[in-house]
Amino acid sequence: MKSKVAIVRCAAYEPALLDRSLAEAVELAPLPELRGASVLVKPNLLNASAPERAVTTRPELLAAFLRLLKARGAGRLTVGDSPGFHPQEAAGRRSGLREAAEAEGAAWVDFAEARELEYPEGRRVKRFSLAAALGEADLLVTLPKLKTHGLLRYTGAIKNLFGLVPGLGKSAYHLRFPDPGDFGAMLVDLALAARPAYALMDAVIAMEGRGPNNGRPRQVGLVLGSPDPLALDWAAASLIGYDPAGIAYLAEAAARCAAAGGPWIGGAADIEYPGLAPEGASPGRFELVGAAAGSADIFAAMLPGFAHRVVRNLASPRPFFDRRRCTACGACVRICPPGALELAAGADGRRRVAIDRGKCIRCYCCDEICPSDAIHLARRPW
Ligand code: SF4
Ligand code: SF4
Repeated sequence: MKSKVAIVRCAAYEPALLDRSLAEAVELAPLPELRGASVLVKPNLLNASAPERAVTTRPELLAAFLRLLKARGAGRLTVGDSPGFHPQEAAGRRSGLREAAEAEGAAWVDFAEARELEYPEGRRVKRFSLAAALGEADLLVTLPKLKTHGLLRYTGAIKNLFGLVPGLGKSAYHLRFPDPGDFGAMLVDLALAARPAYALMDAVIAMEGRGPNNGRPRQVGLVLGSPDPLALDWAAASLIGYDPAGIAYLAEAAARCAAAGGPWIGGAADIEYPGLAPEGASPGRFELVGAAAGSADIFAAMLPGFAHRVVRNLASPRPFFDRRRCTACGACVRICPPGALELAAGADGRRRVAIDRGKCIRCYCCDEICPSDAIHLARRPW
């Protein structure tokens, strides 16, 4: 059976417009039965960014979605996420998401407490330690922001679920799976284990360029909804100009679903668009991430282990630190999974970031977290 993806226009974050667009989206691509069900809504709360930076899901969209869930008879509503670095309290306030959740009567839940979730079918991970709030809800909804991504090229409904891993537990997965292909396969395990019942994407203002944290806000004017998060990601990636089959983790998820007969699409032919189709909704030229890096990964994937690592290391962009912008806040040092960074005093006495090049695994967590846009990724020698 085909998966429906609703692509609906929504020009701005005005409550009346959002209410209308979201109602249309769930009319075209229906939500599951909600009557009396407790629902955990997981927006993208990457860090403590103001809404207009387009790093996080917009609070107005979260509020409209909570109104819709209530109108359809949902029971207890909870909202939460675990930012990569900043405390959840600070990120929730700064993004406006906590206030929006509480104003609509939803409980803002802390993801600090974890519970084991078994997934015996996992290819890379068979047991996850995920936010306890997941086990306490009947249904999970992923509420991503449409953005580019330095490591994975695209982030949406499936990647958003990585926030179910509490706090710095995320670093352990980067360390364990430094290769983007392996990391993506782990994400597919996680998404299949968590099994969101619906995905609703904020693509009113998306992020292009140096996502997921330092890109440019870009007006796209859409919301997307689907009970199939992979179908939604396939559609969203396609409408901004990617070939979704070239996004490694989306291709892996589709191949697995095709082999297993579900639960999601096995490829583009399995998607039905009851509203707009991606071609009709395209925002035009959108600055994407790393077609060249993707090609290098595909080439590298054909090589045996050691050669694979050498080719990928040579081809992957590296982090460079801009001394003029760096405030020596230390965030990148604390988040770097292999401990490749430190703050050291230079000859002028000023503290600056020093990198141990041999340790860097090119995970780009530093770039995701830098509040001063002081890190640039480039494919040139150190
Ligand atoms: S320096 Fe940056 S890219 Fe390199 S391992 Fe550390 S966080 Fe990852
Ligand atoms: S590079 Fe960015 S995150 Fe790292 S210390 Fe400088 S300002 Fe902070």
